[in-house]
Amino acid sequence: MSFAFTPRTVPSVELQGRAERFPVHRIYCVGRNYAEHAREMGSDPTREPPFFFAKPADAVVSNNQIVPYPPRTQNFHHEVELVVAIGKGGRKIAASNALDHVFGYAVGNDLTRRDLQKLAKDAGKPWDVSKGFDQSAPIAAIRAVNGGAHVTSAAIWLKVNGELRQQANVGDMTWSVPEIIAELSTLFELQAGDLIYTGTPAGVSALKAGDRVEAGIEGLETLVTTIA
Ligand code: MN
Repeated sequence: MSFAFTPRTVPSVELQGRAERFPVHRIYCVGRNYAEHAREMGSDPTREPPFFFAKPADAVVSNNQIVPYPPRTQNFHHEVELVVAIGKGGRKIAASNALDHVFGYAVGNDLTRRDLQKLAKDAGKPWDVSKGFDQSAPIAAIRAVNGGAHVTSAAIWLKVNGELRQQANVGDMTWSVPEIIAELSTLFELQAGDLIYTGTPAGVSALKAGDRVEAGIEGLETLVTTIA
């Protein structure tokens, strides 16, 4: 097979302690997965089934990079999230063996043009332009499970210029990682290389040019992003 022009290289994420990288197939995201964040967004935090949206695979940004302040927004928000990296695909995966499909975990930031998201919500329009813009998915190195422990309970936090903005525990997620994988795999065939951003806790706030954003989860590499 030959191409009309050179295809772009596959987007990828660094693996902790390894020279190889994790090739990204798709990026799925979970909406409203912490009750306190659902409340701050003006929603009822009842345990309705998780809902999903997506970002393009090439929205990933490696650790310690500069992200330009995106166009067409006056309200650009951070959202620290636990990211699940899928290592084995499947459809209709049972929650009871969902963790067998997990390659590893990383800290991610689901960057959001909040004003465009509000317009979309109010008009019943899609979220793509508010969520799936260029460089909207910073992610630190993935820590492979490799037969080791999964991330079930761990402190999650985000600081802007050293000031704490978000602080919770991933154990507070409304939908656990196995439940998310089970539900998502009834909608899509999951593939090795998929990333799932599992939702953000309360405390989302606006970023401005020059901000230094540090996002962390206990036991994983801290994600540092500078806004230009
Ligand atoms: Mn999010």
